[in-house]
Amino acid sequence: MSELRTKNQYEKQNPLDQYPRPPFPRQPQERPGVIGKMEPLPDHGEKSYQGFGRLKGRKALITGGDSGIGRATAIAFAREGADVAINYLPEEEENARQVVELIEAEGRQAVSIPGDIVQEDFCQTLVEEAVSKLGGLDIVVNNAGRQTAQQSIEELTTEQYDNTFKVNVYAPFWICKAAVPHLEAGASIINTASVQSFDPSESLLDYAQTKACNVAFTKALSQQMAEKGIRVNAVAPGPFWTPLQSSGGQPQDKIEEFGSTTPMGRPGQPAEIAPIYVLLASQESSYMTGEVVSVTGGMMPY
Ligand code: NAD
Ligand code: MG
Repeated sequence: MSELRTKNQYEKQNPLDQYPRPPFPRQPQERPGVIGKMEPLPDHGEKSYQGFGRLKGRKALITGGDSGIGRATAIAFAREGADVAINYLPEEEENARQVVELIEAEGRQAVSIPGDIVQEDFCQTLVEEAVSKLGGLDIVVNNAGRQTAQQSIEELTTEQYDNTFKVNVYAPFWICKAAVPHLEAGASIINTASVQSFDPSESLLDYAQTKACNVAFTKALSQQMAEKGIRVNAVAPGPFWTPLQSSGGQPQDKIEEFGSTTPMGRPGQPAEIAPIYVLLASQESSYMTGEVVSVTGGMMPY
């Protein structure tokens, strides 16, 4: 177990030794993974993220807000003054409770809405519940995702292929479709793509395609939304230390060396990407739309 970083995100430090470097132990767990079974523990900024009111009074919905990148984003948004609704799977209730407590500790409203986003009617309910409980919606973060590595196309089942597309491609479409009527000028939609959108790995045949879809969806929707004053951008993470990876997202031999092929030589921690979601959600990025921001430890996917 590693200590969570306590320096805030503005203190100068060598990024190479800011966080753990490989090798890491093998740590297989069932999908969807939980944080407690990870070694070292990931850092979501629990003890470090410092806010300055950059999202004061905003209302945000974040899918996959219990763990990983979504959890770090939820913590950062709350510390920047936003009320936050999170969606996650029922199996992730314990991690979600922790996020709710962290949001409430900032004096912000937290709404938890568990449920499986592979159904269109649940996605509609999710948005309606977030809008009614938060009293509106300004920020939508499509972050939930499924990634299951398969070594061969012959081992990739239609069931997996279909579910990966439902979670990663259909759900953001259904959620945006339900959310748009509630969004006013100044709102921001942020999708979560990947380096896989541009530089697909052999074992991620289905996942890489869905992440390419996220980029095209972001660019097309941004053009539709521009005249409404609603911005749509995407974040493209490189290797981040989250349960997605150890719960089948990578073969375990790749977990041992996770992040080693980046120029930084280590994986990113969720706390290191949340500030980009804050930037894209806030008015600071008022002239950015249809953009894909990569955060990769120096990998150059395109
Ligand atoms: P994570 O496992 O912490 O988060 C993914 C979340 O997706 C889960 O917590 C779960 O709540 C949610 N989810 C999965 N299936 C769902 C379903 N059917 N219904 C509702 N929710 C569901 O992992 P993470 O790495 O933080 O993933 C967040 C996003 O980042 C994903 O879109 C992933 O593709 C993307 N991403 C991650 C990496 C990485 O290296 N970790 C790299 C590139 C992109
Ligand atoms: Mg989770």
